Amino acid sequence: MTLRVRGLTIDHGAIRAISNATFNVPRGSITAIIGANGAGKSTLLRTISGLKRATSGSILWDELFALEKLQTEQIVRQGIIHVPEGRSVVTELTVHENLLLGGVWRLHSHKSDVALAIEEVYQLFPRLNERKKQRADTLSGGERQMLAIGRGLIARPELLLLDEPSLGLAPLVVEQIFQTLSDLQEKTGMTILLVEQNAMSALRIASQGIVLDQGRVVIADNAKAIMSDSALRHAYLGY
Ligand code: ATP
Repeated sequence: MTLRVRGLTIDHGAIRAISNATFNVPRGSITAIIGANGAGKSTLLRTISGLKRATSGSILWDELFALEKLQTEQIVRQGIIHVPEGRSVVTELTVHENLLLGGVWRLHSHKSDVALAIEEVYQLFPRLNERKKQRADTLSGGERQMLAIGRGLIARPELLLLDEPSLGLAPLVVEQIFQTLSDLQEKTGMTILLVEQNAMSALRIASQGIVLDQGRVVIADNAKAIMSDSALRHAYLGY
């Protein structure tokens, strides 16, 4: 199932956050959306998951579903799961309880399905397994990010929307989380739309890169092509 964004414009009052954006996120790919602070990356993800309304344009999922017209809950029921920026987990609950919460979003699922999905997350992130009884507010930043991603995975998403998973994390932890995402994508064929300021790390695991500059899509190309074009990197990515 491909996600097709067509002529999407999104405003925050008088501020135009996204301007006439058009791109595809092919099924089974990792697509990285990169761009500077305030480029509109989070706004774009929030609109895809129904948390924010578009001013105009369309977001088509699987040829059938016009996401811009659906409520967040209906969008989740299409298998689209958003892991927002800021490692949002329920701080008073343990690691395991947070993962159980992720099961709420699984459709027609049995308790044993959720238990199996949680085991898979523990295999993916052994650190969470070691800390399953620990309260989420006592986890390190990297562990919390693993938990936020893990909780999203319990719903077995078809499309995973990840907002800046690398934010505030040590480079080694970033590499570890990105490698895990890449392995997971290969294993499950899930589609991942990854928003990142950390352009290099994101493009390394992505097949496609979309560069946003002040709300406009300035590049939508093969990730390797973007990485190897130094003029383009200087102009938009600052390295
Ligand atoms: P960052 O990398 O810093 O998180 P971003 O690329 O995710 O940035 P957005 O958070 O989408 O950017 O913001 C895009 C623009 O919209 C910014 O100019 C921001 O100030 C503005 N904006 C975002 N949310 C709101 C809001 N709720 N009300 C008003 N303006 C907003």
